[in-house]
Amino acid sequence: MTTLFNFLKKYALVILIAFCIGAFVGYKTLERLGIAALINSIPIPEGSIADKDAFVKTLPEGSALVQKALLPVNKKAKNIILLIADGMSLSQVTSYRLLQGGPDARLSMDKFPISGIVLTHSADAIVTDSASSATAFSTGQKTNNGALGLDQNKEVLENLTEKIHDYGFISSLISTSEITHATPAAFASHVDLRWKTDEISKQMMDSNVMTILGGGRHFFITEEMGGKREDGLNLMEQIKGSHTVLTKKEELSNFDTSNRGKVVGLFADEHLRDIERPDNHSSEPTTSEMLDFAINRSLDFNQNGCNGFFIMVEGSQVDWAGHANNVEYLVQEMKDFDDAVSTAHKFALENEDTLVIVTADHETGGLLIEPETPTNYTSPEVKFSFNTGIGYGSHTGVPVPVYAYGPGSENFTGTLDNTDIYYAMVEALDLSSQSGSCVK
Ligand SMILES: [Zn+2]
Repeated sequence: MTTLFNFLKKYALVILIAFCIGAFVGYKTLERLGIAALINSIPIPEGSIADKDAFVKTLPEGSALVQKALLPVNKKAKNIILLIADGMSLSQVTSYRLLQGGPDARLSMDKFPISGIVLTHSADAIVTDSASSATAFSTGQKTNNGALGLDQNKEVLENLTEKIHDYGFISSLISTSEITHATPAAFASHVDLRWKTDEISKQMMDSNVMTILGGGRHFFITEEMGGKREDGLNLMEQIKGSHTVLTKKEELSNFDTSNRGKVVGLFADEHLRDIERPDNHSSEPTTSEMLDFAINRSLDFNQNGCNGFFIMVEGSQVDWAGHANNVEYLVQEMKDFDDAVSTAHKFALENEDTLVIVTADHETGGLLIEPETPTNYTSPEVKFSFNTGIGYGSHTGVPVPVYAYGPGSENFTGTLDNTDIYYAMVEALDLSSQSGSCVK
C-alpha cells in the first residue's frame, strides 16, 4: 500500500498529464463520431445529490426481447389518437392530480378504463432518450439513444405514418416544442442524430404527414435571417408550393377545410410558451386547440375518401419541467396535456371507432412525493422534490403508465415494452386493404 502511495506521489504530475491527454483524446474521438453535439447540448448540472443512499450495480446479461402476444382485435379502430407526455411517469401524474384538486380529484386520463405499464429502455441504454423511445412507438424497433427512425445499424425503419399511408390513412403530428424535436421527428424522419434539425425539418416536410403543428419557425429560416438553419436553406420559402403555413392560432379556426393540402403550423420561433418570448404567447394555441384542428381536418379527409386517421400529440414540456426541477412548470404543462387528453377522450366517447392512447416515453427528474417532514405523515404540507441532478435533472429508468380507450384498447394492459405500443396500434387498425394514398 505504501509502495503504491509513493509511486502515485512520485508520478503525480505524469499521471495528471496522462489523464488530461486521455480526456482530450476521448473527447475528440466522441466529436469525430458526431456525439459531441449530444454532449454539448446537455447543460452541466450545478451539483449532484451526493448524500443519498445509492447503490451502483452492474446488470446481468439480459435475455432477448420478445414481442408481447397480442389479443386479436376483431372490432377494428378507424382512427387512433396517441398522446405522449414526454417525461411523465406516475409521480408526474400524481403531482398534477394532487396540486390540481387533491388526492380524490381525477384527471382525464384517470377516466380511461384500460391501463398498463410500459418499459422504456433503449437498445443501448437502460435510461432512454426521447428519440429512441419515440422510434420504439413509431416503428416497433429498439434503437440507440439519439436515433430517429433508424435501427442500430442506421438502416431505415418504416414508421407508422408511412405504413398506414399505403392503407388510405392520413396522419397529423402535434407538439408544444419545435416540431423538429425528437418525438414528432420519429414519426416523420430517419436521422442518426436527433440534433440534425436541418435534415429533420426537410424530411418532415417531404413526408406524407398532412398536418404538423407546433413551434419551430427558426428551424425553417437561415441564421442570416435570424433563424437556426446552418445549411443556408430558406425552407420556409421552399415549402410555399407544398404547404399552407400557419403562424397564429386564429388561423386554425379560420382555416378553409376545403384546402386538403399539407399544413404546417409554426406558432413560435422555437417552443410554445417560451418564457423568453412572452409577447408571442397570445398567438399560440393550446395543445387541445391544435388537436381540435387536426381532428376536424382529419374527419374531413375521412369524408373525402380516407379510411381513417392517426394523430400523435406530444406534451413536450412536461419533460422540460422535469429537467428544470420545477413543479409549477410541471403543473402548467400537465394541465395543457391533460386538457388535450380530455378533448381526445370526448371525441372518442362520441365516436366509438376511435382508439385513444395516453402514454410517455420515460420519466424525467426522479420526482418524489413525500410528507414535508419525513416523520410526520399527516402533515398537510406535501414535498415535491426532484432527485436526479440539482439544478438540472435527467431522465430515469422507471416504467411509465399507458392508458387506453376505444377499439383495440384491450392490448394496452399488463406490462408492455415500448415497442409493443407500436404493434398494439397496428393490430387495432384495419389494414386489410392496401388501397394506396387517399390524398388526391
Ligand atoms: Zn423524452
